[in-house]
Amino acid sequence: MGALDGRVACISGGTRGIGRATAEAFVREGAQVVINGRSADKGAAALAEMDAGDNVHFIAGDVKKREDCEALVQGTVDKFGKIDILFANAGGASNHAPVAELTDDAMQDSLLWNYWHTFWTMRAALGHMIPQESGRIITMSSVEGKVGKPGISIYVAAKHAINGLTKSAAQEVGTMGITVNSVCPGAIETDIMAVEGPPAAEAMGLTYDGLLDMFAQESAIKRLNEVEDVAEVCVLLASDAGAGITGSMISIDGGTSPY
Ligand code: NAD
Repeated sequence: MGALDGRVACISGGTRGIGRATAEAFVREGAQVVINGRSADKGAAALAEMDAGDNVHFIAGDVKKREDCEALVQGTVDKFGKIDILFANAGGASNHAPVAELTDDAMQDSLLWNYWHTFWTMRAALGHMIPQESGRIITMSSVEGKVGKPGISIYVAAKHAINGLTKSAAQEVGTMGITVNSVCPGAIETDIMAVEGPPAAEAMGLTYDGLLDMFAQESAIKRLNEVEDVAEVCVLLASDAGAGITGSMISIDGGTSPY
């Protein structure tokens, strides 16, 4: 018996990194999973590497577009008959700058990638979960969804917005068998970190290695977590064992954030 036997999950941005690790953990626990990314080729490669047969399906789409977010949720229902779990995972931020120098385009891009994508997928998933009176929604925030940091406000603001949406939605659907929580990881060395870490470090006046060391030293455990550390928390939140947890912003940051 797996903790997610018979469940259907949809994960935005699941071809690599935290989303991929969570997809693999969900499959291990008995779920059927849809993963997403922009590239059909990378999606096919991910499916081949995961080697989970019909239990994993890929849907191409750009989460910065509402129609793609809605098609991802609907495509999950079309493929597997329902949606029990949504993990709105994709996101990130580029073009970092101090607030006084930030462009509208940079802020808008970050909000589309993180906040709007989370809203669009959540709203679409609730359209199925409310009638079935069950569901688990996990949103992807960050330690930067809880604390401010100089130079990366486009990311900080978007991840805070996700936490606000998550807490309000949880209050709305708490009596309907649906939980809504965010996960708030600290720094993890994934592909996005390798791409976005250096400019973020520069905006903060640090080298990339200095940035990673700063993240480790800010934590209680003095090291960075791995993608699997987030995936296992998502399994808990998605399972029956997580029924009593909602409206929470679960830190997976080794004791970095103050709450
Ligand atoms: P990653 O780059 O390893 O993986 C990102 C996944 O999202 C990939 O599958 C990619 O193809 C997909 N993706 C990216 N942009 C997309 C788009 N526009 N449309 C559809 N798919 C898209 O990144 P990761 O580190 O696993 O990050 C996943 C989430 O975790 C992000 O929201 C990120 O902000 C958050 N996060 C990461 C860290 C970290 O340190 N890595 C810490 C806290 C929060």
